[in-house]
Amino acid sequence: MSLTKKILIALVLGVIAGIILTFIPESAFSLLDMYLLTPVGQVFINLIMMLVVPIVFVSIVLGTAGLGEPAKLGRIGIQAISFFLITTAIAICISLALAFMIKPGTEGVFDVDAADYEAAEAPPVVETIVNIIPTNPVSAMSSGDMLQIIAFAIFIGIALAFLQDKTQGIQRLFTQANDILMFLVNLVMKAAPYGAFALITSAIGGAGLDAIGSMGAYMGTVILGLFVHAAVVYSLAIWLLGKANPWTFYKVFFPAMSVAFSTSSSNAALPISMKSAQENLGVSKSISSFVQPLGATINMDGTAIMQATAAVFIAQVYAIDLGFSEIIMIILTATLASIGTAGVPGVGLIMLAMVLSQIGLPVEGIALIIGIDRLLDMLRTAVNITGDAACAYIISENEKRKKTG
Ligand code: ASP
Repeated sequence: MSLTKKILIALVLGVIAGIILTFIPESAFSLLDMYLLTPVGQVFINLIMMLVVPIVFVSIVLGTAGLGEPAKLGRIGIQAISFFLITTAIAICISLALAFMIKPGTEGVFDVDAADYEAAEAPPVVETIVNIIPTNPVSAMSSGDMLQIIAFAIFIGIALAFLQDKTQGIQRLFTQANDILMFLVNLVMKAAPYGAFALITSAIGGAGLDAIGSMGAYMGTVILGLFVHAAVVYSLAIWLLGKANPWTFYKVFFPAMSVAFSTSSSNAALPISMKSAQENLGVSKSISSFVQPLGATINMDGTAIMQATAAVFIAQVYAIDLGFSEIIMIILTATLASIGTAGVPGVGLIMLAMVLSQIGLPVEGIALIIGIDRLLDMLRTAVNITGDAACAYIISENEKRKKTG
């Protein structure tokens, strides 16, 4: 049986098992979760996280070195960042339209008085930008700071490109390291069906169906936004901008989406997402290794959809009217917040505090959605990494045409 089929079965079984487990006593679920589901899921997450930093570093070095001329790096960078920003803004507009139409915050009863949320401090934007250049690359790698790793790897890649003749040995070393890492991705992905099953069962069983109750309309609005964005916007982009077949893309990319879905982490999905793009979609290594890690760090359309919907939902629950200027603020701040969101579970919700406070909405409203956010995190992460891969695919198809045409 193919890996895709196995993962698909694991996803369905995981959802069913999770729902069944919501009926057993909470203490029994906790034991099962603590001693079986979480450890199995965590082993899988650790296995892939073990590969993330080396893969990002090695493949960006190779990708940058292989681009040929530094100008190409600039051109691809500008195309990728433009795609990221425009699709994020479109995602937010779709979710705003849906939230205003469905009005999820006007249905159901919400205990606003009991809502309490301590917002974590978001790092200032200027500081984030300045810190992209690491003062210590080793500590950037040990703490897994993606933007810093990307920046350092680009510098090394540029040096290798300029010193082509003198650095053959180290270039070969990087190529071989890349082969080893890709081999390991394959190996680790064999555990994906089991890991995904455990993670999904744990997430659904843990959230409990009661928590969903009055949050159904909010969840439905976010899910609809995610679906429209993934199915319509990306398909149209692949078809119109990349002149490629969206169906092929989704078929090939499914295992990566399922890893994102089960781990709720764009970073964790990165190894398989890059491998699928390079080996099955024919995205050139240099484009994939540059665009996808960058996207996994700064491009979060799914997260932006949640943040925009949540802002409107909270405004509706607290009966606060949103005018034109507030809507523009939501578009701007949700774009920034999604860029600032790291590719790990749950950070999108932390960054939502920044969106809410910028618009003057009550930050404690986050307490209303926190209980069901884990489930939405799974879905939005799958959308997040799909956007990165779609972008890499489109740029790569266009570059190929440019070469042959
Ligand atoms: N979990 C998301 C990701 O890794 C980020 C978030 O929205 O919390 O892409």
